[in-house]
Amino acid sequence: MPSRSPSVLQRARRVRALVFDVDGVLTDGHLWYSRRGEELKVFFARDGFSIRLAQREGLLVAILTGRVTPALRARVADLGIPSELVVEGSTDKRRDLKLLARRMNLPLSQVAYVGDDLPDLPALTVAGLAGCPADATVEVRSSCHLVCRSRGGAGVARELVQTVLRAQGRWNAIVASWRAGTAAEGYFARERGAKHDNA
Ligand SMILES: [Mg+2]
Repeated sequence: MPSRSPSVLQRARRVRALVFDVDGVLTDGHLWYSRRGEELKVFFARDGFSIRLAQREGLLVAILTGRVTPALRARVADLGIPSELVVEGSTDKRRDLKLLARRMNLPLSQVAYVGDDLPDLPALTVAGLAGCPADATVEVRSSCHLVCRSRGGAGVARELVQTVLRAQGRWNAIVASWRAGTAAEGYFARERGAKHDNA
């Protein structure tokens, strides 16, 4: 059950950037290898769509991961996340979250970070809004302001985006514009020429 306490709402209202760990957050944490040893990752289209939605609403989206994989590079290219907002191979996520915040010209109080395991704790403890999937480790869950209902790779990004945009009073208007059929045209026109998630 995600916490909807006033402090989460207050924190979400300030958020201007969303930073995601990858394995166990944007994926279910399983690492797939091909026969040739290439690492494959499975991402969730609804998370991708939500990330594009957040970007359209003016939120910055960044990636902070301890691993280095070509599969991730393909995904961040799909999502239009600029390379300066992608930190791979991080060995110190607190240091690198601060680095990303500087690059985005934002104080940490305006940055949300989502992680799922012990290496994320140093970043989670300094983020303005700390979030995790439902299946994060117990140590992480007890350290986060927002524990999502979704498991890793199955809607965590969507929950964070929705929590932030709802807290900022923007979610209902977004839903209304999709319901009215006026949002899709702008969305797909802007995405033309690039891949997009429309599931
Ligand atoms: Mg992880």
